[in-house]
Amino acid sequence: MIPSAHIGVSGLGVMGRNLARNFARHGYTVAVHNRSASRTRLLVEEFGAEGTFVAAETAEDFVAALERPRRLVVMVQAGAATDAVIAEFAGLLEPGDMIIDGGNAHFADTRRRESALRAHGVHFVGAGISGGEEGALDGPSIMVGGPDESYAVLGPMFETVSAKVDGEPCAAHIGTDGAGHFVKMVHNGIEYADMQLIAEAYDLLRQVAGYTPAEIADVFRGWNQGRLGSYLTEITAEVLAHTDATTGEPFVDVVADAAGQKGTGRWTVQTALDLAAPVTAIAQATFARAASGQSELRAAYRGLPGGTPVPLSRTEAARFTSQVEHALYASKVIAYDQGWKMIQDAGAEYGWKIDLAAVAGIWRGGCIIRAAFLDRIRAAYTADPGLVSLLGEEGFAREIGDAQVPWREIVASAARRGIPVPAFSAALAHYDTLRADRLPAALLQGQRDYFGAHTYRRTDRPGSFHTHWADPNRPETAN
Ligand code: NAP
Repeated sequence: MIPSAHIGVSGLGVMGRNLARNFARHGYTVAVHNRSASRTRLLVEEFGAEGTFVAAETAEDFVAALERPRRLVVMVQAGAATDAVIAEFAGLLEPGDMIIDGGNAHFADTRRRESALRAHGVHFVGAGISGGEEGALDGPSIMVGGPDESYAVLGPMFETVSAKVDGEPCAAHIGTDGAGHFVKMVHNGIEYADMQLIAEAYDLLRQVAGYTPAEIADVFRGWNQGRLGSYLTEITAEVLAHTDATTGEPFVDVVADAAGQKGTGRWTVQTALDLAAPVTAIAQATFARAASGQSELRAAYRGLPGGTPVPLSRTEAARFTSQVEHALYASKVIAYDQGWKMIQDAGAEYGWKIDLAAVAGIWRGGCIIRAAFLDRIRAAYTADPGLVSLLGEEGFAREIGDAQVPWREIVASAARRGIPVPAFSAALAHYDTLRADRLPAALLQGQRDYFGAHTYRRTDRPGSFHTHWADPNRPETAN
């Protein structure tokens, strides 16, 4: 076989097939390969006219079809399947060739694979690809991790097939080894928080304001024109406006209220614990999904006493809606801030020099959390690349200031009425925790020293100290 393909895609499921078509539509010659050859044949039969494909039935033919240095995208399930496919190709590659894992791999696996392949001179590139099936075809957001040399070759190709916002590509080199998959993981964690916050806003408008799903769809359509403008706000309006064809009921009323998760939200929370990064809104969003699926536990709690429903007049409902908008926006800023800080913490831990403005830039299109306010987040990190928190930027600080009364009112009124708002509450508690002059962590340190001699630091002098709790008259020990 004459090596003619600019790039190859192996794993032609939902994502791989569309990504291969995307490359072909942009003029690249694409070698295609799949474990079961029927998918390869089907792709070429159905979409062969969209560009130039080279169908390969064996791994050897696939590798032989690629120009050097070979660029080979693997789009299979994360975990064992990815390891199996990499093992199959690795022995066929030469130094300088590149394996790109476009699946949702755990960043720690990407680090491991990168290190193993580096020993053989093969570049391993972990590329987080967001935007689902549609994005893969029409332009995803691509977060690339791996060596600089490989991005020099792959960057232009990724940027060509990625989504564009104001002519700018939504693809960037995030950092070495697992940086791209890490940032993709945090993207998904933020996505969980954003979705949960929207769901809580909907629940409040339904239960407190007394609006119908169709009326709430109108509220979200209005919000989508303002600072909450985003893909998730837009699709929320569509889902709420949708009527079930069988029953004629609002779609949202016929769907079982147990939410699924594919695991990236869970990884974000697990990793955040390792990094001591307080991503509490993301965590609550993940736990809210878990709790929704605990049918036995929910049955045990159902019917227990709760808050007091207080019906609102139409005028009060309109005012309440505006308060919910403030609470939703403020909580969303906190959730995104938590995600960005977690990326900063990981950068310090793993030695990644991540351009935080670039992350905001490539999330403006193609991906699920694309949102109007990412432009402002990008501007904030461009003005100050070392910004510790978004609230350090004047505009965000002012908006959070303006949200104080409504945000607190919404969380308090939800608590009074017994309506769960775990992500709103977590975001507000995060804000109050971090702005506090003193935290009760001082007491925790005392408790830890009491039962475990864990020692504590003092506010008035350096060093670590232990109090002899059984003998209060003995002077504390200083280390
Ligand atoms: P999919 O439709 O289920 O397709 C899976 C592909 O993996 C198939 O081509 C399958 O080959 C292949 N495969 C599975 N196990 C294999 C093995 N042991 N050896 C060789 N090939 C194997 O999956 P997908 O939705 O395209 O997802 C692919 C990757 O993209 C995953 O990592 C996923 O997490 C990630 N991703 C998906 C989305 C999304 O919206 N779907 C979004 C972003 C990222 P056969 O045809 O032979 O079974």
